[in-house]
Amino acid sequence: MTTREESIDGPDVGELTPPNRTLMGPGPSDVHPRVLRAMSTPLVGHLDPSFVEIMDEVQELLRYTFRTDNRWTIPVSGTGSAAMEAAIGNVVEPGDTMLVPTNGYFGGRMASMARRAGGEVVEVDAPWGEPLAVDDVADALAEYDPDVFGFVHAETSTGVRQPEVPALTAAAHDHDALVIADAVTSIGGVELRVDEWGVDVAYAGPQKCLSCPPGASPLTLSDEAMDKVLARAKEPRSWYLDLGLLEGYWGDERAYHHTAPITNVYAIREALRLVAEEGIEERWARHERLAGALKAGVEAMGLEMNAADEYWLPSLNAVRVPEGIDDGEVCSTLLERYDLEIASGLGDLDGEIFRIGCMGHSARPENVIYAVTALGDVLE
Ligand code: PLP
Repeated sequence: MTTREESIDGPDVGELTPPNRTLMGPGPSDVHPRVLRAMSTPLVGHLDPSFVEIMDEVQELLRYTFRTDNRWTIPVSGTGSAAMEAAIGNVVEPGDTMLVPTNGYFGGRMASMARRAGGEVVEVDAPWGEPLAVDDVADALAEYDPDVFGFVHAETSTGVRQPEVPALTAAAHDHDALVIADAVTSIGGVELRVDEWGVDVAYAGPQKCLSCPPGASPLTLSDEAMDKVLARAKEPRSWYLDLGLLEGYWGDERAYHHTAPITNVYAIREALRLVAEEGIEERWARHERLAGALKAGVEAMGLEMNAADEYWLPSLNAVRVPEGIDDGEVCSTLLERYDLEIASGLGDLDGEIFRIGCMGHSARPENVIYAVTALGDVLE
């Protein structure tokens, strides 16, 4: 026993005072003040009747934002990678073949998750910085006859938007492959139409164009994809992300599986309410308009975009680092001098590009002007 005099002192940690950054990197983006307010409202229990109603609302708002009628539409507890692993880890069964792209960092992550799920991975090639060609995907489908085809709609590592999605999904369906789309950097910011485009499974992140802190990540599956999941011969390796079990909580039963991150569900509800208020198509148009201004600004400085205009990704602008410039130094100077976050390249584009996000609440005229002016100053 310790006496009062001998009490154990706690570490002397001061009040939380993070710097006030402008977030124009690959995510997170600036969080909308209404979302922050929603996060400071009192908790209810995760099985409280009022929370069950909130869950229904979040599912309805997610369907609107994904442009889907899929019943199986939920926020997965965890970051975008949790929604990604819930998709791949449930849809890919041991012995299945999954076709993945090589044109960016997140295609590589798809491959690793598919392998861990017991799948065999085959690849369709395209260089980093370019989208997949429909013919190459069709050839790979014919050669490997995969069970699942995954692609990244908005590649955060390269600033490339995958065009011609309906042609890709049609090719996959011709070979009876289910299509999984990574929509982490497109949801709520770049045109995405899950049902109309024939996407079977899509996962996303809240911290990019939805301007919501990470913690509850959108996922949607068609009935056909969910039928495959529910008919699995072997249960998925992850208990936490087993969609068959999660169905008990997010489906009709509303039975305990794990304690939902209530505050994050509040946050995504408010973030999605903002999407609905703005209108999804107007929101896509705003991203294109504001990122277009950003692009025009950097190009006027003599800088070059990494992606061609046909597949430029408004939410993530990859700008080529000029000769003789140290990209890391530019990013740290922007942070120190302007409290402005942008990012360097990674993987094959390490040292070659700056990644400037224009996402959600960060896609505003004041942010764009600030980012262009600050970058111009630091590069001078
Ligand atoms: N996929 C893409 C395209 C991403 O950009 C990211 C994160 O940046 C992820 C997946 C993984 O999401 P998270 O970092 O939230 O786990």
